Amino acid sequence: MKLLVTGGAGFIGSAVVRHFVAQDDVEVVNVDKLTYAGNLESLEPVAHLRGYSFVQADICNTPAMQRVFRQHRPDAVLHLAAETHVDRSIDGAADFLHTNVQGTHVLLDTARAYWSELEEAQRKAFRFLHVSTDEVYGALGDDGAFTEGTAFAPNSPYAASKAAADHLVRAWHRTYGLPTVITNCSNNYGPYQFPEKLIPLMIISALEGRDLPVYGQGRNVRDWLYVDDHVEALERVLLAGRPGETYNIGGDAERRNLEVVQGLCRLLDELAPDTSGQSHAERIRFVTDRPGHDFRYAVDAGKLQSELGWRPRHDFEDGLRSTLAWYLENRDWWERVRDGSYQGERLGMGNME
Ligand code: NAD
Repeated sequence: MKLLVTGGAGFIGSAVVRHFVAQDDVEVVNVDKLTYAGNLESLEPVAHLRGYSFVQADICNTPAMQRVFRQHRPDAVLHLAAETHVDRSIDGAADFLHTNVQGTHVLLDTARAYWSELEEAQRKAFRFLHVSTDEVYGALGDDGAFTEGTAFAPNSPYAASKAAADHLVRAWHRTYGLPTVITNCSNNYGPYQFPEKLIPLMIISALEGRDLPVYGQGRNVRDWLYVDDHVEALERVLLAGRPGETYNIGGDAERRNLEVVQGLCRLLDELAPDTSGQSHAERIRFVTDRPGHDFRYAVDAGKLQSELGWRPRHDFEDGLRSTLAWYLENRDWWERVRDGSYQGERLGMGNME
C-alpha cells in the first residue's frame, strides 16, 4: 500500500509517518511545505527507510500536487497538513483560510482527477482521509458530548477553517463520489509536539525556570488523547471506515486546563525537581483569557468504538508521564526548535517543489 501523507513533518503527521513506514508492506510519501510547525528532525528515526520519501511542497500548489499524484500513484491520502494553532488564527486568519480551505480544495480536486482514471479495483479501494478536529462543533456547557450528528458551530478562525474543509470533503464525496472519510479528534498530546501547545509549553517553560501561563482561571475543559492512540484510530478508519462517513475520536479523558498543568507540575517535581527546591506549581500564573475561548469540549467516540473496535490504549496520567519523560530525554529536539536551528537543515533533505 502506498500512502500520501500531507503534513507529515508536523506533530501528528510525523507520528502517522513513523507508524506506517515501519510496516513492511507500506510506502509513505510525505508532502509538507515545512512551515514553522514542520520539523524533519521528527522523522529522523525513519528517514533512512526505503519505504519513505519526502517532497517539500505546498498543498495549495495545484501543479505540484498533480506531479506528486502522477509520480507516486498513492492508494490513499491521509490529509493532515494545516495551520493548527488557535492563537495564531486569532492574530491573523489568512494563512488558515489559504492552507486549510484552499489547500484542501486543491488536494480534493487533484485526488479526484487522479482517482477517476484509476482501474476499477484501485478506484474502489482508494481513500481520502481528512483529519479534522472536534473544535468544528463549537463549545459545550457542563454536560453532553459531541457526536457525529452535532451541528457545526466553530468559534475560532482555526475551527471555522477546519469546518469549511470538512464541508468540502463531504461535498466531494456527495457530488463526485470520491471515497472520502473524515475524522474529528480531540486534543492530542505526546512526543514531538511543537512547544506552542499547552503541554509542551508548560514542560519547557518549567524546565527553563519560566512562569507557567494559564488562560483565565484554567477552568476550560478539554478531552485529551495520546497521539499514538490517534494514529491507531486513523489506521482503523483508513482500512475499515465507510466512505462518506465521519468518525469522532476522543480519549475519554476530560480535564480542566489547570488540572493538566498541576498534574504536570507534580510529575516535574518528581522527575525534574526545581534546583531552588520550589514546587513547579508555584510558577503557575493566570493570564488574560483567549477571546472566544470555548469552555468545554467532549467527544463521543462510540461510533468508532462499536463499528471499528478502536479504544485508546493510554491512560491520561501514564501518557503525561511518558510525554514528560520524552521531553526530558530529547532536550536536543526541543532546544533546536527553541533556537530555530531545526529550520536550518531543511534544504537537501528531499525534492523541492
Ligand atoms: P502541526 O501544526 O504540528 O503540523 C502541521 C504540518 O502541516 C506541518 O508540518 C506544516 O509544515 C504542514 N503544513 C502547513 N501548511 C502547509 C501547506 N500549505 N502545505 C503543506 N504542508 C503544510 O499540526 P498537528 O497538530 O500535527 O495537526 C495535524 C492535523 O490534525 C491538522 O489538520 C489538525 O487540524 C488536526 N488535528 C490536530 C489536533 C491536535 O490536538 N494537535 C487534534 C485534532 C485534529
